[in-house]
Amino acid sequence: MTMNKKDGPVLAIVVPCYNEEEVLLESAAILNRFLQSMIDSAEVSADSYILLVDDGSKDRTWSEICALHREDLSFRGLKLAHNRGHQNALYAGLMEARSDCDLSISIDADLQDDVDSMAEMVRKAKEGANIVFGVRNDRTTDTVMKRTSAEYYYRILNALGVQTIPQHADFRLMDRSALDALSQYREVNLFLRGIATDIGLKTDRVFYSRKARTAGESKYSLKKMLLLAEDGVTSFSTAPLKLSFGFGAAADGAALLLLFRAMRDRKSQAGIMAWICFMQSLQFYLSGILGTYIGKTYTEVKDRPRYYIQERTGEK
Ligand code: UDP
Ligand code: MG
Repeated sequence: MTMNKKDGPVLAIVVPCYNEEEVLLESAAILNRFLQSMIDSAEVSADSYILLVDDGSKDRTWSEICALHREDLSFRGLKLAHNRGHQNALYAGLMEARSDCDLSISIDADLQDDVDSMAEMVRKAKEGANIVFGVRNDRTTDTVMKRTSAEYYYRILNALGVQTIPQHADFRLMDRSALDALSQYREVNLFLRGIATDIGLKTDRVFYSRKARTAGESKYSLKKMLLLAEDGVTSFSTAPLKLSFGFGAAADGAALLLLFRAMRDRKSQAGIMAWICFMQSLQFYLSGILGTYIGKTYTEVKDRPRYYIQERTGEK
């Protein structure tokens, strides 16, 4: 890890905020108390700051952010013109912080994730980790519906070959090199926790238990959750496009069986059905081939970096 300042790494705490007027001031105070204690104990540089990203809120979130900044320069704000969703707001904040920090930590405005774990994240970064994942080991405060849907969702992702860290949302430390790598992912359909595992580099984890929201309601509507779930699959797996091959093989098998029966029982009806099945299987195969090509084009259009150069010899 490279450091700008001799007094420790510059830490940027990045917080996406959407209609968070009810919790923002309280959360900001807690985060600032934490940050000042880290600065006082020389764990991080005095230039460290909290970056609040207003994701096109319709309430007083932005004016609260402005007031915080007027009172204390540890707070910085970024306002997005429209509501672009959690992932994009967070990405905007991380890219803003990228040129002006050594370490970034992303955390939700409701502080459901454990603020104190951030000290451990910083420690792990100092030990050499580029990315530190916050992992929940207790979700009893989430609704049963949210818990079970999350569990099955991650199982499906795994089955489709999408690498994710179970029980990790977006509470995560990323150092400058990880942010540089992230900046090279140009996809529009963001699934940051998937990209964070895709980046590679040196990773570590810290464990914590997830709390209930201190105030306000979840800003993740069912629709937003479903869209995020979809991005998780389609941004990282083209397996569904190839489903047709399976259907094709099954239809082929059925055709063979029917043909066998038609010949054995000398029934023309079974013969016709065998023919239909065979033709159907051809269609499935053909759309499978189409799917494969579309899948390849899709990954090309995204223009992801093929690799990331972490270091070059002779460089500082
Ligand atoms: N958020 C956002 N834009 C949105 C929805 C949510 O920036 O369109 C932020 C929100 O302010 C919070 C974080 O994303 O800081 C996570 O949202 P929330 O806590 O409502 O989600 P949950 O914990 O219920 O999954
Ligand atoms: Mg929350």
